[in-house]
Amino acid sequence: MADDTVILTPRTRDLAGWQKLVTRLPLPRHAYLDGEWQNAASGRTFTARNPANGEPLVEVAACDAADVERAVTVARRTFEDAEWRDLPPTERKACMLAWADAITTHADEIALLETLETGKPIGQTTSVDVPGLVGGLRWYAEALDKLYGETAPNGASSVCLIDREPVGVVAAVVPWNYPLIIAGWKLGPALGAGNSVILKPAEQSTLATLRVAELARHAGIPAGALQVITGLGHEAGQALGLHPDIDAIGFTGSTEIGKKFLEYSAHSNMKRIGLECGGKSPHIVTRDVDDLDRIAMYVAYGVWYNQGETCHAGTRLIVDRSIKDDLLARVRQWADKLQPGDPLDPESQMGAMIEPEHADKVMDYLQQGRDEGARLLFGGERVRRDSGGDFITPAIFDDVTNDMRIAREEIFGPVLVVIPVDGLDEALEVANDTDYGLGAAIWTNRLNDGHRAARALRAGTVWVNCYDHTSINAPFGGFKQSGQGRDKSLHAFDKYTELKTTWIELDD
Ligand code: NAD
Repeated sequence: MADDTVILTPRTRDLAGWQKLVTRLPLPRHAYLDGEWQNAASGRTFTARNPANGEPLVEVAACDAADVERAVTVARRTFEDAEWRDLPPTERKACMLAWADAITTHADEIALLETLETGKPIGQTTSVDVPGLVGGLRWYAEALDKLYGETAPNGASSVCLIDREPVGVVAAVVPWNYPLIIAGWKLGPALGAGNSVILKPAEQSTLATLRVAELARHAGIPAGALQVITGLGHEAGQALGLHPDIDAIGFTGSTEIGKKFLEYSAHSNMKRIGLECGGKSPHIVTRDVDDLDRIAMYVAYGVWYNQGETCHAGTRLIVDRSIKDDLLARVRQWADKLQPGDPLDPESQMGAMIEPEHADKVMDYLQQGRDEGARLLFGGERVRRDSGGDFITPAIFDDVTNDMRIAREEIFGPVLVVIPVDGLDEALEVANDTDYGLGAAIWTNRLNDGHRAARALRAGTVWVNCYDHTSINAPFGGFKQSGQGRDKSLHAFDKYTELKTTWIELDD
């Protein structure tokens, strides 16, 4: 695809305009290796589908170990040639900023690709996902020439320097729920530090990623510094995990597959594994609050945004019994506003579930909740069935206990479980009684309780009197089985750099 394919204009941003543009939108279908579009060596493909109507979009190259071998050879050669890593940091920065600019130029086209393949509403891919990617890349571009080394204080007779070096060849393996934003969280620090990166998007969300990667070349990033391996997880993903010449993996996805990457590392070259995995985040509302309308909005968006397909979704509402019914009445009003719609309609607030198998899994959990004795207050219906896509309405289960499967397992759909409690101590105990530790939140007017909860909650991010407030300069990641290491902020460079100590003796 050339660099000037389709640039949409604001004029086209209504349902009819987006629908029309779909018909002439080029769909990437090949892996992007060494700056070229490539079929899989085996010639095999998989089908990319549109979750909003179930129809095939395009056949995409299904890479396997042979293609991974090729990509790693190119990546290693680029790293050894130092074509990218030894470019002066200000020049690397300029390339990454130019790349971010190119993505911005093509923002609407890229957002449309993401909407088509993930079923997310176009209003969100244009306003959140693509700007999130661009913002992340810009932030790391600006940071990369400000990473100073250190000097260790070892006395007058020596100089002891501590520098950061790129780790080498990095594979970024990412999920389908925020494919571009999360790719940016890996690519920003990994490329910024001078590594050669091989990106593997989830098989459900390949197309927008390919378009973004292609633009990197036009911005001056060498072909071997950023490649994209398309393919299935147990083939292409596993081959990356087991490859003996990959130095680090930046993984985001399920806890189950995250654990596999630890095994891959153990069974190959002990490559460094960064993990961002699942969650079951508690959202506590104490009795000491006075603005239930505002809290209800945060509860609703905290769990239902992105169809509930969000790792840090506030899926467990742990609410003081004395205010529970008042709060739920207000949350329900938000559910009415967040009904699923056509993802191409800029007015839609919720889109389609990623694929039929996943929608079935969510529906199974809804049945499981009923069987366990929880009370489905509303929602949890499959709607818009004529479309051919899988749309599920926002659901609330009341009278949930924390031992039920719907309270313990990641549903990854628009399902809120409500656990009534009496007082803060019980709320904190329930909140921490989970295998996960990604996000947590508490609403309270009592300063001491807010501080106490922030210390007590075992989660990578604790929100006090808000939910999902975020910035690229704040670390993001999980305690417990939600992961290892952090994305975002300067701390993300730790995953993709080695510390080098150089000891220079001055005395003869
Ligand atoms: P997933 O684990 O199924 O897949 C993630 C990636 O791993 C994909 O690229 C996939 O192709 C690959 N993969 C799948 N099986 C593999 C295997 N056997 N070997 C190697 N690679 C394999 O996750 P998903 O369904 O794409 O995404 C949803 C999950 O991601 C949820 O659990 C969610 O909580 C998690 N997630 C976490 C964060 C975070 O920052 N902590 C962010 C977003 C999503």
